Amino acid sequence: MTLTVIALGSNLDNPPEQLKEASRRLSRLTGLTDLTLSRVYTSPPMGPQDQPAFYNAIATCNYADEPSCLLTELQGIEHAMGRVKLRLWGERRIDLDIIQMGERSIKETDLVIPHPGISGRLFVVKPMIDLLGRDHKVPGLADLGTLRDELMHHPISLCEDIDINGAILA
Ligand code: ADP
Ligand code: MG
Repeated sequence: MTLTVIALGSNLDNPPEQLKEASRRLSRLTGLTDLTLSRVYTSPPMGPQDQPAFYNAIATCNYADEPSCLLTELQGIEHAMGRVKLRLWGERRIDLDIIQMGERSIKETDLVIPHPGISGRLFVVKPMIDLLGRDHKVPGLADLGTLRDELMHHPISLCEDIDINGAILA
């Protein structure tokens, strides 16, 4: 069992509903237990600016299988939900990235863990703090509180009216 952190993102086709649907699909994966979803945050797009705002959240869980199996499962969910690749860092219905798997460190062509973008993305760090606390550490990085303090200038808003955790409890 490995404490696993997955990032969810969407900016197309009713993003809050896409995050809920992805959460429900995550909850049904074999070998994945103790799924908890963070609150949802919205922020301007990271890549091309002529696209809608992103909605992001974090899931924590225990995963029993290999990281490569989880990547395949996540790509299966993206595909089943109709994700189409339009352009780099562009608009997408759903994006599921593996952020951390315990103390594992992987550097393969198609899989890098911990995810290399964590320290530059407040929309990952902030929801991680919600679930894991500011003292939590990702291997090779400062604690989450320090990462957050360094990113405080990034614009981000909490979506108080969206509850995706409820979607998997229902
Ligand atoms: P991005 O998430 O960077 O916007 P994509 O979702 O299109 O882009 O993913 C591009 C590739 O990133 C995938 O084909 C996958 O093999 C690779 N990848 C490398 N590390 C990870 C990770 N930790 N989680 C998810 N995908 C990853
Ligand atoms: Mg991705």
